Amino acid sequence: MSVLDSKIPKGPLKDKWTNHKNKIDLVNPANKRNIDIIVVGTGLAGGSAAASLAEMGYNVKTFCYQDSPRRAHSIAAQGGINAAKNYQNDGDSVYRLFYDTVKGGDYRSREANVHRLAEVSGNIIDQCVAQGVPFGRDYGGLLDNRSFGGVLVSRTFYAKGQTGQQLLLGAYSALNRQIAKGKVSMYNRHEMVELVKVDGKARGIIARNLETGELERHSAHAVVIASGGYGNVFFLSTNAMGSNATAAWKIHKKGAYFANPCYTQIHPTCIPRSGEHQSKLTLMSESLRNDGRIWVPKNLEDVLAIREGKLKPTDLQEQQRDYYLERRYPAFGNLVPRDVASRAAKERCDSGYGVNETGEAVYLDFSTAIQRYGKQEAAIARMENPNEEDILKLGEAVIESKYGNLFQMYEKIVAENPYKTPMMIYPAVHYTMGGVWVDYNLMTSVEGCYCIGEANFSDHGANRLGASALMQGLADGYFVLPYTIGDYLSNEIRTGKISTETPEFDEAEKDVSERIEKLMNIKGTKSVDYFHKLLGKAMWEYVGMSRNEEGLKKAMSEIKKIRTNFWNDVRIPGDKNSLNSELEKAGRVADFLELGELFAKDALYRNESCGGHFREESVEEDGLQKGEAKRNDTDYAYVAAWEYTGEPSDAVMHKEELEFNDIELKQRSYK
Ligand SMILES: Cc1cc2nc3c(=O)[nH]c(=O)nc-3n(C[C@H](O)[C@H](O)[C@H](O)COP(=O)(O)OP(=O)(O)OC[C@H]3O[C@@H](n4cnc5c(N)ncnc54)[C@H](O)[C@@H]3O)c2cc1C
Repeated sequence: MSVLDSKIPKGPLKDKWTNHKNKIDLVNPANKRNIDIIVVGTGLAGGSAAASLAEMGYNVKTFCYQDSPRRAHSIAAQGGINAAKNYQNDGDSVYRLFYDTVKGGDYRSREANVHRLAEVSGNIIDQCVAQGVPFGRDYGGLLDNRSFGGVLVSRTFYAKGQTGQQLLLGAYSALNRQIAKGKVSMYNRHEMVELVKVDGKARGIIARNLETGELERHSAHAVVIASGGYGNVFFLSTNAMGSNATAAWKIHKKGAYFANPCYTQIHPTCIPRSGEHQSKLTLMSESLRNDGRIWVPKNLEDVLAIREGKLKPTDLQEQQRDYYLERRYPAFGNLVPRDVASRAAKERCDSGYGVNETGEAVYLDFSTAIQRYGKQEAAIARMENPNEEDILKLGEAVIESKYGNLFQMYEKIVAENPYKTPMMIYPAVHYTMGGVWVDYNLMTSVEGCYCIGEANFSDHGANRLGASALMQGLADGYFVLPYTIGDYLSNEIRTGKISTETPEFDEAEKDVSERIEKLMNIKGTKSVDYFHKLLGKAMWEYVGMSRNEEGLKKAMSEIKKIRTNFWNDVRIPGDKNSLNSELEKAGRVADFLELGELFAKDALYRNESCGGHFREESVEEDGLQKGEAKRNDTDYAYVAAWEYTGEPSDAVMHKEELEFNDIELKQRSYK
């Protein structure tokens, strides 16, 4: 085990980024024209990076497996993006965003990275407004904000419930401009399936053309991975169906350390699972917790009556309801961070209070907000003695203007009108804080290979706060990587064009070809999904919202077995030389089957509860925090970065000790 060098600049926290930028080596404009960069991924992180790097003068090649960059998973982001603008004059600042993010991440992130993120957050909003992103505005035309979990200010910028889509259209238009100018070569429907290293440096990739099956060689002076998160290792998640870990896993196998794989976010407000047939879960944005109140009935008899259809939730009076988040966490109420809200829902449902047939659902209720907004609107309209019907109508109109598309989506899926009856929600896998280890410059442990966006581990510690993923992805792509990559590339100006006709490219292509051949030749009896579902079940049962030593050991051995069976019995119809979505899935699931085991190993070694990682062995036993997760800063205030050595169970841990000089390490309390 070695100790990792994160290359955090020296000096006071608030000056680190500015000083670093001032001292970083630059590449002159003429030399930039001779330098090639590969960007794998065109979501918010990759799209913004590729557009910015091309704008600066580099030659960029970008890859995505969809038929257009516009279909990246980022398009699904609903609720908003954080920035420390303090437009609401409610006490926000760069320091407070930094503080909230480190605290929200349960003190398991790097101070210097998070401070930089908070510093550039305001620039992101300016950049996106300049691109024409239609952020929500208030009555006077100024940019509006709302609150997300784990904070006491309103700093979330939003575009109704479609923030990711609008931001992606902004990044996409910047990218398209560079495609039109010939500075970006865009490879749609191409999947990166291998990293090519020459003399220890990342020098290119092997990509499979998903329409023809052809393997292609692409070289560059640096490779940037922006391939998103690995939540689909659980099979069921709120991620897009195609989201996968292959690009990240391939670079891991070529020397990039994988950090904190067990840090996964389970989001409290998703539409509950309805049965075994499902392959996707749907998120109800966290923004809904601004106005929705979460509750279950106080009495078990009422729970049973609701499940049997004899009682409706709207029949229960205030005093018959348990607003358990408001009861347990009076300071933050319904806006506690996601990990806290998810565990609280699980606790109620495990105790028998779940309100649907499966016993895995709680209510998210807008009736109080509808009343409040209705009365407010009636007052603004100078209505004297408005009747109940008017109040409801006015209140519902306000809710519709804020969350209309989310309510419509809920009604389409559940066939119930959420304006009239509370939504039913339950936690689901949503985001992965773990990912490829990167230093302060966002470079992985492979020289010349960078990783940005959700694919890296960098800023969110053990729990990400709502609306901070978009902030991080765009910070990395627009404002961090374009500076830091220059430091490395300034040493590449004499390298010249990199040939793809080298033994390293030959070998990488041969490896991919043999792997595909092997998969096609198994000709077993079970579909790819069959194995993916088994993996997902093992992950959810043993490595889900609550984990213990016995379960984690079981998970490791079960996943190993599933992996062996997969390689003996998977059946992939069709052929390898044309569009074959089963073959695509098989490659991705093969990687998940390795990542899942490392995930469980990481969770096993981290014998503390922190953020989204809850170990049953590590719980507060006394005092005000009784029953809450118990962190152990003495033994675990580090990043676990795993080195691939063959089998995932043999991975070697390298530690990056986390230093907290500007924030006092405290028990996280939202009471
Ligand atoms: C339903 C939902 C709602 C969300 N809402 C919010 C929100 O309101 N606010 C917030 O901050 N965050 C939100 N998030 C999280 C946020 O959307 C993601 O973390 C973020 O968009 C990830 O961006 P990315 O660019 O890193 O990756 P992605 O958007 O996942 O893009 C990955 C890219 O990599 C490409 N790719 C992957 N593998 C390969 C390969 N092997 N070869 C070639 N290309 C590859 C894909 O084609 C794609 O272009 C939400 C997440 C979900 C699931």
